[in-house]
Amino acid sequence: MTETLNKIHNLAVFCASSDGNDERIYNTAYEVGRSMAKNDIRLIYGGSKLGLMGQVARGIMDHDGKATGVIPDFLKTKEVVHEGLDKLITTEDMHERKLTMHELSDAFLTLPGGFGTFEELFEIVTWAQLGLHRKPIGLLNINGFYDDLINMLETMCEKGLLKRDNLDILIVSDNFEDLLGKMRKFEPKPVPKWMNRHQT
Ligand code: AMP
Repeated sequence: MTETLNKIHNLAVFCASSDGNDERIYNTAYEVGRSMAKNDIRLIYGGSKLGLMGQVARGIMDHDGKATGVIPDFLKTKEVVHEGLDKLITTEDMHERKLTMHELSDAFLTLPGGFGTFEELFEIVTWAQLGLHRKPIGLLNINGFYDDLINMLETMCEKGLLKRDNLDILIVSDNFEDLLGKMRKFEPKPVPKWMNRHQT
């Protein structure tokens, strides 16, 4: 039997607006961009040239890939915005930005980051858990960065506060190409009938 694979042409990437101090993470962010360009996947992201966000965008643009930046008006300054992108969408606020990124993307990828990254990841997983979308969500665990978070999520399951099926929404790997393969094969479990408000 042939498997139907999820098409991933537009991938939203959530990641740090800082460089951090782990070279493996910093270099891998660039490699993710390079690999996306090679796989003909458009980057949908926050539009910044800073930190790991800038690294992914440079990895894409240096290899003739495509990138759409979605940036709220208040962040759109010369110090922040990546000027080499082929598309830049300005939104009124953060809420509109997240909605726009969601609408433009076939799937979501999270690299290491801080509060902003976590907020974006958990919002999109929560929407999936509520049946609001069925798009794959990947977590790239570069150099063990997310080990503690994965342990925390296991604790939440053990304590009966997170359903195993909902934890399984999150696809984890330490290798981008492997993660992409798993995301393409991802089949969401049906959500309980009373909350099936699947929209996309
Ligand atoms: P953080 O993980 O706290 O560094 O936040 C990174 C996330 O928040 C990114 O995925 C962006 O969507 C957003 N963000 C934070 N800072 C900026 C910035 N200077 N320019 C654009 N987006 C940003």
